Amino acid sequence: MDAAQLMFKGDVVFLRGVSKLEDLPAPNFPEIAFIGRSNVGKSSLINAVCGRKTVARVSNTPGRTQELNYFRVFDKFLMVDLPGYGYAQAPKKKVDAWVKLIRNYLLGRTNLKRVYLLIDSRHGIKPPDIDFMDMLNRAAVSYHIILTKTDKISVEDAAKMFEVTKLLLAKNPAAYPVLLTTSSEKKLGLELLRGYILNAIDVNSL
Ligand code: GDP
Repeated sequence: MDAAQLMFKGDVVFLRGVSKLEDLPAPNFPEIAFIGRSNVGKSSLINAVCGRKTVARVSNTPGRTQELNYFRVFDKFLMVDLPGYGYAQAPKKKVDAWVKLIRNYLLGRTNLKRVYLLIDSRHGIKPPDIDFMDMLNRAAVSYHIILTKTDKISVEDAAKMFEVTKLLLAKNPAAYPVLLTTSSEKKLGLELLRGYILNAIDVNSL
């Protein structure tokens, strides 16, 4: 955990937004990615995990929301804020372009160590999440599910959601078998998540 805290206290630099795979940064560093339905709390969690307020603000600005937003953490690894899915009003053409970009990214990104898939703990796993998990399963990309915004529900409901989600996870071969829970608002679950991230990038080998 000490290593994790130290790492995230270092510089987190926004590198660029990527809308075409040709523009991806060279795969010279291990990489982790965050994804989820729009409004799941992705930007808030990226900021909270980095211990600062504005890291992911850039990703939430109009125009950047369809891009893969790249950050370099402590000169050691890359963190990507992937464009969210499940916009109710998204035109089909945009959805198709998103699927193509993300599928090709997942299939081709050799330095991608893990995807963090965020699920709103009030809603649980929904059909768009299942579609995305299928994509990850097919691409054989290891992913780790995080239930977000746990402060928004009662302890009893959170425990129920935890059990239901764990059962679903057991059916997905590429899913990391430990379910994480976070609240960016109350700063809960962040240290554990940082530890898992450093484990995923194999920090000791850097
Ligand atoms: P994104 O669209 O997935 O990047 O989601 P945001 O991080 O922008 O969050 C969407 C909304 O949920 C915002 O109003 C946030 O303030 C709120 N939110 C995000 N995380 C939490 C959390 O852990 N607890 C609470 N109570 N609200 C949160």
